[in-house]
Amino acid sequence: MNLPAALDAARRGHLYPAVILDGGDAGVRRSAALELARALLCQEAPEARPCGVCRHCRRIVWPGADGGGAFHPDFQVLERDLKASTSVDATREMLKTAQVSPFEARGQVFVVASAESLTGEAANALLKNLEEPHVSAPRHFFLLAPSRLDLLRTLRSRSLAVFLGPAEPIDPAAVEPLARAFGAAVAAWTASGSPVYLLSAAAALLAAGGWEDPRSGRPWAVAAAAVLRSLALAEEAAGRRARLALAEALLEGPAMRLRGIAAERILEGLVARHLAG
Ligand SMILES: [Zn+2]
Repeated sequence: MNLPAALDAARRGHLYPAVILDGGDAGVRRSAALELARALLCQEAPEARPCGVCRHCRRIVWPGADGGGAFHPDFQVLERDLKASTSVDATREMLKTAQVSPFEARGQVFVVASAESLTGEAANALLKNLEEPHVSAPRHFFLLAPSRLDLLRTLRSRSLAVFLGPAEPIDPAAVEPLARAFGAAVAAWTASGSPVYLLSAAAALLAAGGWEDPRSGRPWAVAAAAVLRSLALAEEAAGRRARLALAEALLEGPAMRLRGIAAERILEGLVARHLAG
């Protein structure tokens, strides 16, 4: 199914209880989850959902995003709590809310932000919940992941999959100059130990551009690609492991931006932590 069809089903209240939102980048998946949640909980007539302005729509925002502290008691997002996974404890905590009736809206929406990171135990807890007979009001679970293939087969078989399109490919020609500038700065840092070169390395990644949208994963993906490319460019790249760890950490950038930290500060912090730490 595609997003417009899923939105249409949500408007009419016919959306499948468990929906996998895969493809796109992290920002695309978040936006789709918010739009679907608003379509489900909006108080306007079905054809006008989501209106975007009612008391439900306005408060359905991604946690930490600048929604002026907006919060909807019937919309919950579960983000990975352990470094690389979404734990069974956090999942059970979310499922507790799914045992009670909605507080304000017609139903409840639960979003698992990185469903590919659910531990086996967490995925099974979720699965058990999906198999239980319905409580009085509709409950919806959105499982966000880069690919549905990253999820347990049992979870996939009980969910409707909505593909959001391929992640936009990264142009190698755009990455190349960033990789060279980053590599040169790291080499200078290694040779001199002067922290000013760590700032230059962060500035090289900032040149990826496109930082205006805090939800977009794209500039982070470009920066990560530049760090990886810098390894291939140097004959003897210093700090191979550190650079691999930095590239991985960069992909988590949008989560930090949504906590209100500027991209430049995040880049400087990550570069310093991984290359000088
Ligand atoms: Zn609305």
